[in-house]
Amino acid sequence: MRLSVIGCGYLGAVHAACMAKLGHDVVGIDVDPAKIAGLNEGQAPFFEPGLPELLADSLGTGRLRFSTDMADAAGSAVHFVAVGTPQKRTENGADLTHVYAAVDALLLHLRPGDIVVGKSTVPVGTARDLSLRIADGCPGASLVWNPEFLREGFAVQDTLEPDRLVYGLADPANGAQLILDEVYAQALADVRPRLVMDYETAELVKVSANAFLATKISFINAMAEVCEASGADVSLLADAIGHDVRIGRKFLNAGLGFGGGCLPKDIRAFMARAGELGADQALTFLREVDSINMRRRSRMVDLTREVCGGSLLGQRIAVLGLAFKPNSDDVRDSPALSVAAQLQLQGAAVTACDPEAVPNAARRFPELAYTTSVEEAVQNADAVVVLTEWEQYRTLDPAALGRLVARPAIVDGRNCLEPSVWRDAGWTYRALGRPKAA
Ligand code: NAD
Repeated sequence: MRLSVIGCGYLGAVHAACMAKLGHDVVGIDVDPAKIAGLNEGQAPFFEPGLPELLADSLGTGRLRFSTDMADAAGSAVHFVAVGTPQKRTENGADLTHVYAAVDALLLHLRPGDIVVGKSTVPVGTARDLSLRIADGCPGASLVWNPEFLREGFAVQDTLEPDRLVYGLADPANGAQLILDEVYAQALADVRPRLVMDYETAELVKVSANAFLATKISFINAMAEVCEASGADVSLLADAIGHDVRIGRKFLNAGLGFGGGCLPKDIRAFMARAGELGADQALTFLREVDSINMRRRSRMVDLTREVCGGSLLGQRIAVLGLAFKPNSDDVRDSPALSVAAQLQLQGAAVTACDPEAVPNAARRFPELAYTTSVEEAVQNADAVVVLTEWEQYRTLDPAALGRLVARPAIVDGRNCLEPSVWRDAGWTYRALGRPKAA
């Protein structure tokens, strides 16, 4: 089937490559000429495991190409809209400029029978509004809202083998559902649930899933605050409560909290939209979820100051990790970058490393010294702080690292190191939600 994917960022580039992998003939369209030139050369615009190989395969077969010209969407039967929906600059709501611009540009090239498939995360009510616009601009074309649940770092697998597909439809009888089933035939063959509903519910499925995940993380981080106040250990607590199948252990890792291009802006946009609908009281708890999350960043700075003897001024701090999570180079609203920047702003001399995110971090916060080498970062450091739990940081050898630093003090912002191993090797080990050594 001929498909277009509009917006080739973290979501769209992966979606386009995966759709080509499923055998479709795909054009990816984006307004960013550098991104498109790179993609046509097989260069992924960001770090995502498996994407470079997928791009190389599909570009090689001729089933995948990229363009800056929306006219190249003409002739596709299905058009996925995967453009960004960032937070507005001065308020909590989502900025839908890109979504409307993309759909308006696409309208000029739609034919009756074409299907537009919304994948971006949008406030409830957007799909119905867009469907009227599409019905007006191209009678006979229709809109399906098909929110995306992929996780950066696992985006290829999550797109090829989603744990569920959600279709929001105006009218289950209009045939759009069958066409989208054909697009996803391979994924559906593995008996994955395909859940059909109205537009509003489909839009809410996405934002409520993100709100739930954010709440679970902030719940355990709130417990970490109480553990810090009482001398208890949040890691032991999480293991113990996580055994209850009604609670589950996933997303119960206390630490520096959530970040990235989705959860923070999605819960804020959700609150803003609920307010517009007169249902703001329903989501006031998300304000607390957001502030618990942000408080962890200041607590991390405080702990680092503590291991430095009460002041950060002139202290050499090695920062391990800048991406908002491992296996990604994404630093959008990254707790790690935010803590690294705060340490520097409070007078420390920060050398930060990350296996993939250094270029993005350096663009956003050029004031830090950057390296990709842990050994270089920790050289003569007064304290080491772990801010993203990359596998290579979880498995560091405390004895070897101890020979490089000026003072063996480590603050584990992700509870990803074994305290006894570091303490036995002579380190001062501190972590969020865990007691000081006895
Ligand atoms: P992104 O910023 O990486 O990519 C958005 C892309 O859209 C950019 O390349 C931009 O140049 C392009 N674009 C903007 N306006 C355009 C236009 N008029 N025409 C064509 N292209 C245009 O963002 P992302 O992380 O890929 O997210 C996209 C959407 O998917 C957002 O709504 C996000 O919330 C949602 N989402 C993201 C993820 C994720 O893990 N990144 C997961 C699920 C859902």
